[in-house]
Amino acid sequence: SDIQPVKSDYRIVSDSLFAPFEFQNSSKNYVGIDVDLMKAIAKNQKFNITMDFVGFQTAVDQTQSGHADGMIAGMSITDERKKVFDFSDPYFTANATIAVKSTTTDIKSYKDLKGKTVGVKNGTASQTFLDKNKDKYGYKLKVFDAADTMYESLNTGSIDAFMDDEPVVKYAILQGKKFATPLEPEKIGEYGFAVKKGTNPELLAMFNAGLAKLKANGEYDTIIEKYMGNTD
Ligand code: GLN
Repeated sequence: SDIQPVKSDYRIVSDSLFAPFEFQNSSKNYVGIDVDLMKAIAKNQKFNITMDFVGFQTAVDQTQSGHADGMIAGMSITDERKKVFDFSDPYFTANATIAVKSTTTDIKSYKDLKGKTVGVKNGTASQTFLDKNKDKYGYKLKVFDAADTMYESLNTGSIDAFMDDEPVVKYAILQGKKFATPLEPEKIGEYGFAVKKGTNPELLAMFNAGLAKLKANGEYDTIIEKYMGNTD
């Protein structure tokens, strides 16, 4: 039987730039896999949403403070986050990877990052990974709020590498960024829609029911193909 919404409008927050999951198209409208999935799920489960693209760490904070009802931001389902978030069924699998300039030849393993500066986005699973392994490999970290400034810093050479999710780096390369991914990617968990632990259970249930429907009727595949084509 159908799950009923409790609120007349659910405020969903997301990252500000995480292409192909959320990004602004040429008309400055936010599009992407997360955006299309969320809208299609709200439509087939008959609930209303407002989406705000506030950036990853801000989305985490707003969902935790109750300022937002839920978040979809290519967010990896991790054990640590499960302590404070309830996650939907996974909707995508992605690893994280180190990216360097395509002209860089001296970084082939984590050991080669010794003395180098590695960029990472605030609040991400990549940040957790890099923090944990910092002493072991001897790199410095530079934390960014958004991907555009991080990518620009690699281009200008103020960082030597950065870590981000593999499909996002691959997409950036396809869009013409001169980056390379010389290291084996790290498993950081599957993506899930998240609500603050113990809140909005009907929203989570509607997301899961909607996702199952999109997978069954082919709409999920259509959305993925629209943004990723045959890039993998
Ligand atoms: N998947 C990564 C995480 O959950 C990155 C998400 C993002 O940058 N939007 O931390």
